This record gives sequence, structure tokens and C-alpha cells, in this order.
Amino acid sequence: MYNAYFKCIEGCDEKYPLDEIIYSCKKCGGLLEVYHEIDPLKQKTAKEWKDIFYKRLRTTEYPYGSGVWSKKEFVLPNIDNENIVSVFEGNSNLFWARLLEKELGIRELWVKQCGITHTGSFKDLGMTVLVSQVNNMMKNGADIKAIACASTGDTSAALAAYGAYAGIPTIVFLPRGKVSTAQLVQPIANNAIVLALDTDFDGCMKIVQDVTKDKNIYLANSMNSLRIEGQKTVGIEIIEQFDWQVPDTIVIPSGNAGNVSALGKGLLMLEELGMINKRPRIVVAQARNANPLYLAYKNGFENFEPVKAKNTIASAIQIGDPVSYKKAVAMIKEFDGIVEEASEEELADACALSDRTGLYTCPHTGVAIACLKKLIDKQVISKDEVVVVISTAHGLKFSEFKTEYHEGKLKDIGSKYKNPMIELEADSNKVIEAIEKEIYKRGRA
Ligand SMILES: *Cc1c(COP(=O)(O)O)cnc(C)c1O
Repeated sequence: MYNAYFKCIEGCDEKYPLDEIIYSCKKCGGLLEVYHEIDPLKQKTAKEWKDIFYKRLRTTEYPYGSGVWSKKEFVLPNIDNENIVSVFEGNSNLFWARLLEKELGIRELWVKQCGITHTGSFKDLGMTVLVSQVNNMMKNGADIKAIACASTGDTSAALAAYGAYAGIPTIVFLPRGKVSTAQLVQPIANNAIVLALDTDFDGCMKIVQDVTKDKNIYLANSMNSLRIEGQKTVGIEIIEQFDWQVPDTIVIPSGNAGNVSALGKGLLMLEELGMINKRPRIVVAQARNANPLYLAYKNGFENFEPVKAKNTIASAIQIGDPVSYKKAVAMIKEFDGIVEEASEEELADACALSDRTGLYTCPHTGVAIACLKKLIDKQVISKDEVVVVISTAHGLKFSEFKTEYHEGKLKDIGSKYKNPMIELEADSNKVIEAIEKEIYKRGRA
């Protein structure tokens, strides 16, 4: 009774079944999206859907214990449960940033900890859907030999893990020397074919598109709209965690702009089904060194110019030509959106400041928090708002950055909040003296 299919976002009436191997519209080359017929979903009331989701929360019944598949009817309603490839991703906690909200001067700040999940980033949410759909197609006889992606790190980690779990070979293309050791070792450990190329992310993207023209190798990049279906559960989950109350603002870091498109898509679905009655504002956060969306926003989205992304500590969003630009702009307009940017120093300091309050932020989350801080300071976000920051990855993936920050070794960054180790002789008096000095300096927050 439920019905979902690929539809062209440029509005050219093209429809394709979800088990067709297709990434863009055959007629106009535009991006596709998974379109859900809304009437069958409306057969259940808002209350009934909420109750269903609530009942599935953290169950062991496969696959509903997943934060993504607990919303199966909204994601891929017709896939066989036994073909779903899920590690019970999602259901990540909301961290109440009690000290950070004081520090920033805002009523309530919550951090959606998407990095606390199987491979350490929100990419799991999308990859479970994509790999499930590929697994389903293979089980139904499709001749697919491997799944491939280009990645700034986290996508390849997720693809490799889900591929390994399903027993499907995976191939990942990484820009040589531009991803952290922790991110690089994940696909290696999960037995992916790992290719490091002498180019940047945008360069890897071109190669993977060439390689996947052969339909035996399936393309897992975010132009593949199946991933959006999983990622869109993040907004649904946040609102569910707030007992279906809608926060004022949601801040999300953006690179290829798939995640912000997904966030908006999930929220609009809730609205259509009467499950929420207002919309949050969405703030898109970019690194200044890779800020094409910010620049486009500044000129009122009149025209879009890709940029050559410069190096940024927030390596997962070092993207100059976002694939999902059009989808993201549509969502920014729907959600009274703002795009803000943060410099390298701002994002690094925002990470360190947040970590001092008990978080352990990745640099992308640092970008989001730095942008939030700027918007509060400019009074664009008012002090009585309830704000949610989407934390996209786990800080543990970025130990080199944190170590260098606290050692004061990052180029052109003052490390305002650094906390270097104190190296001392093993002498009790000297130790006591040092501790007293440090306790005095810190005080009680
Ligand atoms: C992929 C990624 C992003 C950016 O998401 P997009 O969909 O490309 O905008 C942000 N942060 C982290 C940690 C990521 O892995």
C-alpha cells in the first residue's frame, strides 16, 4: 500500500523504480529524490505514527531497533526486512550542553550526537539505507559486483562497514593525505579496496563517477538520493526526543549539502503528516575555506559559483562544488534559513571551548558551534531560543587536530583555550605547588 519511487527534482515528471540503478534523471540529468506518496501514509494519524515509533524505540526486533528503520515506512517502505543491512544505527543521544549554553549566552543548547554511532559519523544513517537497497537488488538478481564512493573520510568508513556487514565488496577513493589516520584506517580494517588519489575530494568524485558508469559497480555518493532517506531521520529523531516539540533553531555543518537537504526533507514530511505544527529555523554552517553555499547565500542565491576548496581542519566539509546545492537551497528557503561561515581559528577555538564543557567535538561540529556563537553575538539568534546543534562526527576521529591545538602547534591558530600537559619532576612539593596554581586558574564553572 505504501509507494515510494525516484523522482527528478527539476520537475520533469520522470519516475523510476527504487530498484533501478540510476543516479540522475535520464531526461534532464537532474538529481533524483525518493518520493513518497503521502496519501497511504496519511491513513494513519499523527498520534498513531508517534505511538508506532515509540513502541519500536530500542527494541531488538530486527530492523526496528535502528533509529532509521524504526521509521521504515518513511524511509523505504517496501523493502523486505530480511534484506535490510542495519547495525541499529541512529537513536543517538541529545547532549544537554548546560555549561556551553551559559558560555554562549543562550537559553537552551542541545547537541545531537550523531557521531556516537557505529562508524563515528552520521554517514551511518544514510549508508544503512543505500547498502540495504543494493543488497535487496542483489538478492533479487541484479548483477552488482561492488559498491564504490569518493569520500572525505566518513562516507568511506560507513560504506566499508556496511559492505563488510553485508558481505558486499566495497571500493573507496580518498584524496591522498587529506583524511585523518583514524578515518583512513576504518575502511582498511573493514577490508575495502582503498585507493588514495593525488587530488582533492572533487577530483575523486569525478573519477568515481567514471568508474561507476559500469553498472556492475554501484555509486554510493551523496548524489545517490537513497542516503538522504536515512539521513532525514535525524530531524525526526530530534523532535521525537523533544516529545514532538520543535526547537527554534537547528544548526548543521555542510559540505556536499546532502545532510541539510535530508534534515529539511524529514521535517517537511512530519509537517505534511500533521506530526508537527511549526518549523525550526535551519542554520547552515560552513568553513570559510570551503564556503560556496555561504557565498551564494550572501548574493541571495542569485547565482552559484563553485569554489576551489582550500585546506580546512574540518576536512569532511572541504568541498567546493556541493552536489546537493539545489536541494539545499530549496530547504534553506523553506526553513527561513541562514548560512554562516567560520574561520579556522574560530572553529578550532569553538571545539576547545565546547570540550571544556564536557563535549568532545569534531571540527565540523566546531564549525557549527562557531557559527552559532557568531549569530548569537550578532543577535540574529536571540538569547531565549532553544537551539540544537547537529554534531556530525565523533571527536575521537580527529585526535591529531586536538593534540596539535593543545600543543599550540596549529599554523596561524592562537590556541586560546589550550591546555598543555604539565611536565614535572616526580617531586611531591613541586606537584602540589603546580596543582594549586592550576586549580586557582580554573575555578569552578
Ligand atoms: C559528510 C560530513 C559532513 C557534511 O555533510 P554533507 O552532507 O556533505 O553536507 C559534515 N560533517 C561530517 C563529520 C561529515 O562526515
